[in-house]
Amino acid sequence: MDKGEQLYEGKAKKLYATKDPDVLLQEFKDDATAFDATKRGTIVEKGIVNNKISAVLFQLLETKGVETHFLKSIDERHMLVKKVKIVPIEVTIRNIVAGGMSKMLGLEEGIVLKEPVLEYHYKDDALHDPLFNEYHIKALKLCTEKELETIKLRSFEINNILKHFFLERKIDLVDFKLEFGRYKGKIILADEISPDTCRFWEKGTKRKLDKDRFRRDLGDVEQAYQEMLNIVENKK
Ligand code: ADP
Ligand code: UDP
Repeated sequence: MDKGEQLYEGKAKKLYATKDPDVLLQEFKDDATAFDATKRGTIVEKGIVNNKISAVLFQLLETKGVETHFLKSIDERHMLVKKVKIVPIEVTIRNIVAGGMSKMLGLEEGIVLKEPVLEYHYKDDALHDPLFNEYHIKALKLCTEKELETIKLRSFEINNILKHFFLERKIDLVDFKLEFGRYKGKIILADEISPDTCRFWEKGTKRKLDKDRFRRDLGDVEQAYQEMLNIVENKK
């Protein structure tokens, strides 16, 4: 494996340099955090599951014309990705009310939204990733107006593709978070798409198959992650 210097260790992943300056090795860890990392734990084999699920979903998006940072799966915990300059914005798309939206607007979890809701959060752990809007983004020059348009357009496209993919597998895609970066002058999708960054509910029963099982101490966390992997790999 072309594993050079460790460039970064985050809450869920590590990034390593490779011989190619445009390429990074992304490693998925089992460490789990919630509530601004005030809650910490381990989800056994989460790294393996998230690496595999992300690989399948990035490849799905590529076949639909959405450029991602994904290059190649290396082994159970590693993938090669294009090295991007991350735009410090976390884009959230919501199809069903849950989590932060339920809290912020006093809405019951499970309300199906008439149209998807897009939110921007400033990617800054120290500030607790605050919700902000396009005016803040433009005023702070976090990206150009054109880049922001691309980010918005791509996020809704990704929602349509993933919603459909999961619906075919009897899973409601409740909400999810995306990160984009600049690569050779273009905006592409980066980071991961996994039960850590999406809410997945079993259609009909609303059984949670994502990180909420860890956040809310619902039990069967590992089983839920494995179940999502089987679903994504069509083994269920
Ligand atoms: P955090 O930094 O929030 O603790 P992670 O543990 O997931 O999160 O660390 C992965 C970091 O790598 C994130 O900060 C993410 O923005 C960044 N990242 C994801 N994909 C790429 C990429 N292709 N190139 C450079 N940085 C990336
Ligand atoms: N999310 C994420 N990283 C974050 C915050 C949120 O991946 O730092 C995901 C989360 O898993 C959910 C969606 O984004 O699928 C919306 O999260 P929300 O804003 O409801 O926040 P939370 O409930 O996690 O506080």
